[in-house]
Amino acid sequence: MTTVLVFLDHAGASLAKSERELLSLGASLGEVTVALAGDADQAYLDGVGSYGVQQVYRPDSAAVSEVLVAGKAAFLAEAVRTTGAGIVLLGNSYEAKEIAARLGVRLGAGVITDVVALAADLTATKSDFAGSYTVDCRVTTDVAILTVKPNSFDAIEAGGPSSPHEVRLPVDLPAAVARVTGRVDKPVSGRPELAEARVIVAGGRGVNGDFTPLEALADALGGAVGASRAATDAGWIEHSAQIGQTGKTVSPQLYISVGISGAIQQKAGMQTSKVIVAINKDADSPVFEIADFGIVGDLFTVLPQATEEIRKR
Ligand code: FAD
Repeated sequence: MTTVLVFLDHAGASLAKSERELLSLGASLGEVTVALAGDADQAYLDGVGSYGVQQVYRPDSAAVSEVLVAGKAAFLAEAVRTTGAGIVLLGNSYEAKEIAARLGVRLGAGVITDVVALAADLTATKSDFAGSYTVDCRVTTDVAILTVKPNSFDAIEAGGPSSPHEVRLPVDLPAAVARVTGRVDKPVSGRPELAEARVIVAGGRGVNGDFTPLEALADALGGAVGASRAATDAGWIEHSAQIGQTGKTVSPQLYISVGISGAIQQKAGMQTSKVIVAINKDADSPVFEIADFGIVGDLFTVLPQATEEIRKR
């Protein structure tokens, strides 16, 4: 049976949805072992165990997290050698992709990023060139390294020992050319992370600086607020909210596009959403070409009505 090494870079008290999706995907491909970079409490480890994971590998030194991504790549390479893993699964953040690339170089292994579907023979589906092409590709080396987009796979618990066995791995850290000296926590908004959210309400230039009606709708739906680059460049919302080619890629169950024209660079980040609803006052806007449902109207009229209706239910 293939050993599947799932890399978790833990930063919370419980398993994130994207981490559960990775573990579940791993369990469908072989025997899952976890490489865990950060600290973890018992509840987190129990959560990992509920996906049938029997062993969790951790670095023997906290310094792994202090040398940017190089330390984590060194740790993962050691974990692959120790476990004999044939598949390595990581998340799809910028950091995870860089770790994957460095790991690929260390192991001489092929890397596929942005995976949204995976066949039994490990043929991976991803989109390329800002979503212009959907590509099926497969790694031909002994070890396959895959970074997986959130919301692409279901998170189904497999059942297993409540507490996996922990193994400390000695890691030969590369000389640090840059060191992490501190981390700044983002202010807590009470809304889900964009990458994790089941519902996203995203606004563009059409909101004209006022995201209040979008925030109200997002809160009524328990969703997150995102934006086009026009809105983030205008300083109406923080840059971390940008969705698209040079922003985040998201695949929520429901993406509500508000006052966004649907440029190819915006589409690149959201077109794998399960259901897309577009609200735009221009009936000829290209956004309607990718929308499952479209509302032609002024967002400042449509959104308050929609929010009020949803709150009543
Ligand atoms: P616009 O194109 O100006 O569209 C505004 C829309 O709002 C219009 O369709 C209008 O009809 C509608 N509207 C106006 N008022 C109302 C109202 N009251 N009610 C309802 N509808 C209204 N863009 C991204 O989004 N993400 C990226 O990651 C990204 N990366 C890029 C990378 C590169 C290299 C380049 C060159 C561009 C990138 N862009 C990106 C920019 C992209 O090309 C577009 O310029 C941008 O997406 C446009 O944003 P928008 O749709 O909000 O604005």
